[in-house]
Amino acid sequence: MAVFNRVTIVGLGLIGGSLGMAVRRRHLAREVVGVSRRASTLRRAKRRGAIDIGTTDLRRAVRDADLVVLATPVEDIVHLAERAAARMRSGSILTDVGSAKAAIVNRLERALPRSVAFVGGHPIAGSDAQGINAASAQLFDGSICILTPTSRTSRVALARVARFWNALVDQVLLMSPRQHDHVLAGCSHLPHLVAWTLVRAVTVAPLARAPQSFLDMTRIAKSDPELWDEIFLSNRANMLAAMRRFDRYWRALQATLRRADRAALHRFLTVAKAKRDALGDADDRGWQADDR
Ligand code: NAP
Repeated sequence: MAVFNRVTIVGLGLIGGSLGMAVRRRHLAREVVGVSRRASTLRRAKRRGAIDIGTTDLRRAVRDADLVVLATPVEDIVHLAERAAARMRSGSILTDVGSAKAAIVNRLERALPRSVAFVGGHPIAGSDAQGINAASAQLFDGSICILTPTSRTSRVALARVARFWNALVDQVLLMSPRQHDHVLAGCSHLPHLVAWTLVRAVTVAPLARAPQSFLDMTRIAKSDPELWDEIFLSNRANMLAAMRRFDRYWRALQATLRRADRAALHRFLTVAKAKRDALGDADDRGWQADDR
């Protein structure tokens, strides 16, 4: 059943395109309007069933929308939100899917007109692929979406955005933007940085083919550096704290190896294995994705 009359999605890449496809498949909006900078992206989005109408004109696209979803790279979200909100009608809702939240939410809560309600969001689903060609109507199946309300967030708008995402994902979680950035720095942003570091630090050239373990560990290093450098910088303090914590474990492990302390090494690996086993796998949940 439609939650919104007209949903406008700004940015039709992996996330925005997948969202459009999922919304249309589930009839969550009577009409999905897509905004992109390139006409070729709009044509592909239309062909792939992600949008009903496409335009490069942001102002026209948001004018009659009940919900505007910003799904562009993080660094563009704030200025696009400001431009969109200036044209959105009173009572409409603006949300985003950016992977780092505090900087966006803090800025927009101060900058946006009161007539437009803003609700920060982040679906925890994605992959190392980019663009509309990688979009999938199933991307959000079995995943979670984090919404990041603050004391200033309209409860009515929050309830509507939560209802929208509830129809697309398994579970909607509410967190403060600060808590979101702290948690994601450790379990999503740090693994990406570790994967990139591993690729830089290790030589696989003497082997004809990289071992599967190396490919598994470093798949996310194929992600778009342009998308990720912004996320790391936007969540810099939490990233540095997560890196320090990782470093403490890394150094302890080095000391264990130096001492050739097999009991300590075994304990370390056993505790980590139990923790990992308890997490299950993406396949167990029927989706193939990683978080950002
Ligand atoms: P993507 O596949 O690279 O798509 C981004 C799209 O935004 C591009 O297709 C681009 O299309 C469009 N775009 C860029 N600047 C624009 C502008 N000024 N106006 C309109 N459209 C613009 O990236 P993505 O992976 O979907 O990521 C988008 C957002 O989702 C990011 O904020 C990211 O942090 C968040 N996110 C990503 C994942 C993930 O796993 N990928 C997961 C959760 C959240 P044109 O070049 O045609 O304009």
